[in-house]
Amino acid sequence: MQVSQDQPISSDAPLQLLLFVDGRPKSKQQVQRIRSYLKELEADYDFELQIVDVGQQPYLAEHFKLVATPALIKVHPEPREILAGSNITGQLKAWWPRWQAAMDAYLQLESDLHEHDENGRVKELKSSIRSVAVSAELMRLSDEVFRLKQEKEKLQEQIQFKDRVIAMLAHDLRNPLTAASIAIDTLQSNYNIEKGEFERLTPKMTVHLFKQARSQTKIIDRMITDLLRVGHGKDREFFIQPQKVDIGKLCLEVLEELRDRYTAKSHKVNKDIPKDLPNVYADPERIRQVLINLLDNAIKYTPEGGDISVCGLHRTSQKIQFSISDTGPGIPEDNRDRIFENHYRLERDQGKEGYGIGLCLCQRIVLAHYGQIWVETAPHGGAWFHFTLPVYPN
Ligand code: ADP
Repeated sequence: MQVSQDQPISSDAPLQLLLFVDGRPKSKQQVQRIRSYLKELEADYDFELQIVDVGQQPYLAEHFKLVATPALIKVHPEPREILAGSNITGQLKAWWPRWQAAMDAYLQLESDLHEHDENGRVKELKSSIRSVAVSAELMRLSDEVFRLKQEKEKLQEQIQFKDRVIAMLAHDLRNPLTAASIAIDTLQSNYNIEKGEFERLTPKMTVHLFKQARSQTKIIDRMITDLLRVGHGKDREFFIQPQKVDIGKLCLEVLEELRDRYTAKSHKVNKDIPKDLPNVYADPERIRQVLINLLDNAIKYTPEGGDISVCGLHRTSQKIQFSISDTGPGIPEDNRDRIFENHYRLERDQGKEGYGIGLCLCQRIVLAHYGQIWVETAPHGGAWFHFTLPVYPN
């Protein structure tokens, strides 16, 4: 008999046992009892016993699906048997004769499998006995394979996300590019070089086309700047974990969380979230933050009895748009870009509680999803925030 602790065993003992223990004093006493009982047993065969501390090798406990320690496992010969609970020695007494019988059957089978080849050389079939140490190593490896598989899935998801984003960006860039090209083409085709003037175009029309070309190229420039900001890792802490998200459902959950706040101010909340709004490819926790910040601001800056509206829209095949409007004071046109800066607050609102970081965070999150966020004046006054996100592919 071999009783080993800690060091790996490499004997060929046919009966292989694993004893799982933990660090509790009570458990130590039980283990002592089991070990001395095993020593007392009149064993006809060698056996190996390896002690495994679950604290040090939790993956082994997981592998054997153990729910309690100590536990004694017969790992060889098959089938595996697990004795657990407070009376392992009692159970062992009952099982021992059966394990011995299993040994007899196993050794008989093994001797039957030895055969001679034509040259008379003994061809010994590899013993199927694996030492406990080897099986432990195999389990560690299978654990590692599982971890790598999960990592691979995560990476594949991210590649898929990037593919979606590229499709969305290509689509987004094409719109202003087409508009700018049409304006430039129209100007070019109507320009008479010899006369140095635009024919068939009124001066008003000419100015409009120049403005159009300029504003569309500005939009393209802005999109590329945003893209580079994300790409250069300025927002590196924003590692998002995109997945399939039902944003309509998420938004309703957030509204429910904020119910106490808006009912306290007697706000009327209008929801226009189509049932067939597609899922988005996004990090649910991050998007929850965006929704909370925007709705929280709408509640904060809208006077009692005002209206707040939430609207979801399937903008293009690649993206959805979410809009949140209120009937508060709105954002003056000159400050519309600045309110997304860190710590920026309108002078008007310095007296209200807040740190001026909410919108900056929203922008960083939305940009990390390669979406856009902006603000306009709502139809009845008030602020009207919009943001876009990529659609989850079907
Ligand atoms: P905070 O609300 O904590 O000051 P934010 O970054 O969320 O910070 O907002 C920045 C500023 O933008 C606010 O200080 C406020 O002046 C203005 N603002 C944001 N949301 C609204 C809104 N819904 N209506 C009016 N002003 C707003």
